Amino acid sequence: MKYYSTKGQAKPANFRQAIFKGLPEDNGLYMPEQIPVLSPAFFAELGNLSLPQIGFEIMKPFIGKEIPDKALSELVEDTLNFDIPLKQLTEETYALELFHGPTFAFKDVGARFLARSLSYFSKQSDHKLTVLVATSGDTGSAVAQGFYDVANIEVVILYPSGKISHFQEQQMTTLGNNITALEVNGTFDDCQKLVKQAFLDGELQSRKNLTSANSINIARMLPQSIYYFYGMGQLPPEKWKDVVISVPSGNYGNLTAGLIAQRMGLPIGHFLACSNINDTVPEYLETATYRPRPSKQTISNAMDVGDPSNFHRILDLFKGSHAAMSDHISGYSYTDEETRAAINKVAQENDYVLDPHGAVGYLGLSTYLDIHSGTGIFLETAHPYKFKDVVEEQIDHSLNTVVSFEDQEKKSIPFSSEYEDFKEFLLES
Ligand SMILES: *Cc1c(COP(=O)(O)O)cnc(C)c1O
Repeated sequence: MKYYSTKGQAKPANFRQAIFKGLPEDNGLYMPEQIPVLSPAFFAELGNLSLPQIGFEIMKPFIGKEIPDKALSELVEDTLNFDIPLKQLTEETYALELFHGPTFAFKDVGARFLARSLSYFSKQSDHKLTVLVATSGDTGSAVAQGFYDVANIEVVILYPSGKISHFQEQQMTTLGNNITALEVNGTFDDCQKLVKQAFLDGELQSRKNLTSANSINIARMLPQSIYYFYGMGQLPPEKWKDVVISVPSGNYGNLTAGLIAQRMGLPIGHFLACSNINDTVPEYLETATYRPRPSKQTISNAMDVGDPSNFHRILDLFKGSHAAMSDHISGYSYTDEETRAAINKVAQENDYVLDPHGAVGYLGLSTYLDIHSGTGIFLETAHPYKFKDVVEEQIDHSLNTVVSFEDQEKKSIPFSSEYEDFKEFLLES
């Protein structure tokens, strides 16, 4: 499979080139040249296939011969070593729980797949690879856990000292092994500057094999299509008519992956793009005007994005047509008050605990199902425990602890925000 850039200026890349580069040089986003349609036999069997079996069938056409079948099958099995169950809330409403991976959010799927793909190709050339990540919290923990103990890869995470949550810090500093956390005396912007400068440093580039684990990497987005198939497979066949899937969205990678699953033949009737007050995409769907703007802080903070990168992939899928896009997707946005009220209501009425992101998806779905018939699935993108404080205010019990880092030692290296120190560290490590 070849991947082209949405900006059309860069040369097409194969899978390996696209994942090592992350971004094409024209600053567009990679997209697959074809979207394969799966066979009727595959859909007839869908309900009987395991998550890794589905994963293999979905990823194979996108990778072609670049990873042989046996290695790809092992890679997918190792990536998807946790379940993604579909839970029923009401007669017509289901939650697809994407949060059973090591960092309790759906980003585990993409981060783990990318890590194992990079490792596969590094082993072929026997080049040790160093992954650099600057993080303000969540990306670092997903990447750290995703790359933990993966052969031939060293990960260096830079995070601003004292500016991330305890939970996030524990998730990336207690691993050790091939994960090094630099606790930078500075801000997130300082961390990002150090990483950017390292990628522009010719001398460093010639001596180290550096890459990033950017969230718009094709190997992070494409595997997210897998769970749309797995989710539908868990739905009784008589409910396959008029399925609507609600996607709580920030950078719109998850929704892009759903649209790709639909193009591959999965019979999803309609999509809902649900946002918090950062409603750039719902507004576009309503008005046909794309108005990027600075993000505003909310309780569903992983969706605080004012200019979502993957919007350009979605636009590309619909060849730039607003009419075609709004035929397939409806947009909704909600305030923090509405989100809190939804957590409260669903806990009381359905005995189900939403996290603030899933609550936004739930809200869009219930608005839609009030006036349309069909079966609705909303994506539950994070475990409620990750947002314990907000969630516990709305429910009448405390949440069970899902993970405890109490007895694990924090291993971080206090670090300055000077580039020369960072370069020396990289060259010596
Ligand atoms: C990243 C994230 C989102 C947003 O997903 P996108 O693919 O960026 O739209 C939603 N919920 C949670 C919990 C996330 O971590």
